[in-house]
Amino acid sequence: RAKALGKNRLVRYLPGMAEAAQDEVDLLADLSLATSSGQLEVHYQPTVDLSDGRTTGYEALVRWHHPTRGLVPPAEFIPQAEAGGQVVEIGAWVLEQAVRQAAVWSAEAGRPVGMAVNLSPRQLDDDGVVALVAATLADAGLPAGQLTLEVTEGVLLRDVDRVVGRLAALRELGVRIAIDDFGTGYSSMSYLRRLPADVLKIDRSFVAELGSDGRSTTLVASMIELARSLGLEVVAEGVETARQHALLGDLACSHAQGHLFGRPQPAHDVPAAPVVVPAPRAEPVATV
Ligand code: C2E
Ligand code: MG
Ligand code: MG
Ligand code: MG
Repeated sequence: RAKALGKNRLVRYLPGMAEAAQDEVDLLADLSLATSSGQLEVHYQPTVDLSDGRTTGYEALVRWHHPTRGLVPPAEFIPQAEAGGQVVEIGAWVLEQAVRQAAVWSAEAGRPVGMAVNLSPRQLDDDGVVALVAATLADAGLPAGQLTLEVTEGVLLRDVDRVVGRLAALRELGVRIAIDDFGTGYSSMSYLRRLPADVLKIDRSFVAELGSDGRSTTLVASMIELARSLGLEVVAEGVETARQHALLGDLACSHAQGHLFGRPQPAHDVPAAPVVVPAPRAEPVATV
């Protein structure tokens, strides 16, 4: 009896698992086609200078318009593309689009418009990554200083000397390196010690808690101070409310990104003259 029940359970459980696995396999197969068949699109989200509320540049964020699944967010295919290797091709395509777009916007605006592109660990493994970045910049005529490459802690799970060497070579080109999602990893400090970087992006999970209690505010204040002491520019991610904006201003945070300033949008929807969002005044909040 017990055996029969167990067997039934097994029978009921397995099909679901098999379906999920098959689904992953299908998605990966589709992914190989996505780049060549025009299903990928880059959206751009502004980064704002908090001292004057002006947009200094944009972050390129990839989107996949799947023929039957609709819009697939990067969280649902970048990890698979990373594991399967397709991220190298996808990443090169995003880089090219983004760098060209920055050149176009800079020409239109008559001032340098910055562009940040996420670089996956797998891309950094690729021998040709430095040459690829150099060639992409040269083709678009974009000065290297206008490009920031964002990396996460995942790159440290690789051959660290090689990763550090490649990041150093990219900086030698004049490209800036940003540490993305800072504070979420289990080794954020060793990460800061080891990686050559120019920008620190405070993960939005910390920004979301800003002002909710003294502890959270102190944590963000400390990260901003840490960045300053190390000579890094700091960007607060995921700013959604005027209150978070005001508190970041009080903490002398230099840059921010988030829905309050602008959501990621296709290039043609990005306003030529972005609205300037002045900092509201915040009530003083005690830190611990
Ligand atoms: P990320 O690089 O940390 O990008 C920030 C994410 O936060 C984006 O999600 C953005 O849409 C979202 N975001 C921005 N402001 C707000 C806000 O105010 N509130 C909330 N709730 N969310 C906000 P998205 O576009 O879904 O991308 C997720 C992640 O996928 C990125 O995190 C990045 O790690 C990865 N990714 C996206 N595009 C690429 C790419 O071209 N290459 C690689 N390797 N990874 C990418
Ligand atoms: Mg990023
Ligand atoms: Mg981030
Ligand atoms: Mg993130």
